[in-house]
Amino acid sequence: NLPDFGLGSWPARRARIDPDRTALVQHDRSLTYAGLADRVRRLAGALTRLGVRPGDRVAYLGVNDITVFETLFATARCGALFVPLNYRLSPTEIRYMLDDAGASVLVHSADTADLVAAAGGLPDGVVIATAGGGFEAEIAEGGPRPDTPVRLEDPCLLLYTSGTTGRPKAAVLTHGNLTWNTVNQLAHLDVLGTDKALCIAPLFHCVGLGQITLPTLFKGGSVEPVAKFDPGTILARIGEAGITSFSAVPTMLEMMWRHEAWDRTDLSSLTCVLYGGSPVAGRVARAWLDRGVKLLQGYGMTEASPGVSMATHEGTLDHPVAAGVPHFFTDVAALGPDLTPQPLDGTPAELLVRGPHVFAGYWHRPEESAAGFVDGGWFRTGDVVRVDDDGWAHVVDRVKDMIISGGENVYPAEIEAVAAGLDEVDACAVVGVPDARWGEAGAAFVVLRPGAELDEQQFRAHLERHLARYKIPKHVLFTDTLPRNATGKIRRVELRTLAAETFTNGPA
Ligand code: ATP
Ligand code: MG
Repeated sequence: NLPDFGLGSWPARRARIDPDRTALVQHDRSLTYAGLADRVRRLAGALTRLGVRPGDRVAYLGVNDITVFETLFATARCGALFVPLNYRLSPTEIRYMLDDAGASVLVHSADTADLVAAAGGLPDGVVIATAGGGFEAEIAEGGPRPDTPVRLEDPCLLLYTSGTTGRPKAAVLTHGNLTWNTVNQLAHLDVLGTDKALCIAPLFHCVGLGQITLPTLFKGGSVEPVAKFDPGTILARIGEAGITSFSAVPTMLEMMWRHEAWDRTDLSSLTCVLYGGSPVAGRVARAWLDRGVKLLQGYGMTEASPGVSMATHEGTLDHPVAAGVPHFFTDVAALGPDLTPQPLDGTPAELLVRGPHVFAGYWHRPEESAAGFVDGGWFRTGDVVRVDDDGWAHVVDRVKDMIISGGENVYPAEIEAVAAGLDEVDACAVVGVPDARWGEAGAAFVVLRPGAELDEQQFRAHLERHLARYKIPKHVLFTDTLPRNATGKIRRVELRTLAAETFTNGPA
């Protein structure tokens, strides 16, 4: 009986308290905590039989499913690292990640079989398909009990960042990081053992796993993974199953609000709807708040497991688009001019974060890991944040997205928020382009709502009413869609290239 206080011990520990409560449910399948603990024990045995040892990597490729959780907990129980991969990536990108992580086992579902084949599989490893009986056969056969202790400081998860600012980097998150993030979430949220949480955000991303899912399983509530996000199906499911909570990215909240079933959906069972990952438009937040839903914004990042700050419901009514206050065990500061931590106040500054949930470094990237920290343990978030008079954090923008035009700092997110105030505008993204006169100038990509009419002059007039002159983008381009990644974030790198091609060589 070796010490194991890691994530892999959670199902068995919860089963000791609530063996018969439902842990996971999906379609006609459900697992109690006792059932989950048993399958995790067997799968950990199977992985051990297949050669998985502490520190090895087990990759997972597939949509949200009960098997993601079984594989996560079993891998953790072996002291190995779970590596969930984004199934929307290309075969080349998947190949890069499998090699980068050095995975020795890959578990995948039916819908990603072609992707696995196109990526070249795992030449020197074991591939287990969850469809067609492979996964079940492993569980049935089981294997020896892992024989190494698992400590909180041991690595548990290799989680790739979204790749918004460059190539995705794998953050190494320890059992302790994930446990402290859970403690932080629970210190903020009223999660109960009777909760029924939908897991709609993808589980290969920190929002899907850390914001409400792991905290709900920790408390003994039930989690329902959803394979594919469809706004109408989710709305129907909320009323039908008495769903209490879910975590979403802002685009999902917007799609649900705009769905024709929105008005007739019973949302009264919801006690907590969390969102984060990117800014939400004020009108979307208000639509949910107007329905009486307890909507809470969380701010964080993969490297922080992920929570950094969170709103309270009472405060949200007064600050609908703010990111709340720091978590219980989280310290925040502003990056000072000489790279030292300074008090964070109303002046926008790069945010530094410290806490037991903050990772220690990226996988196999010593230089980026070292550059990510200052002053002995403060992580540089790369986000510009300010704190208002009530102590609420506002995510202003990313440092890398800031445009310096004529010596002034211009934050695209501020312009985008103003643009979103126009009913005709569906989405807007502003990026910087090189400019002979101003150094850099703004270029706005604008997507109109279907059937809406708005010309450049009207668009500019609206911005001019709300923003200082130097912030108004020099270029405006109406377009049909914006390139987005799997979590709905705009791919600005692509837009910057497009804007530079379109505007830099054009008429001055
Ligand atoms: P990469 O690090 O690879 O460039 P990424 O930063 O988008 O990608 P994630 O870790 O998934 O990868 O996202 C974290 C980032 O998302 C934060 O640093 C911040 O910029 C943004 N973000 C998270 N929550 C919020 C929020 N509530 N409001 C605004 N932005 C947010
Ligand atoms: Mg990042």
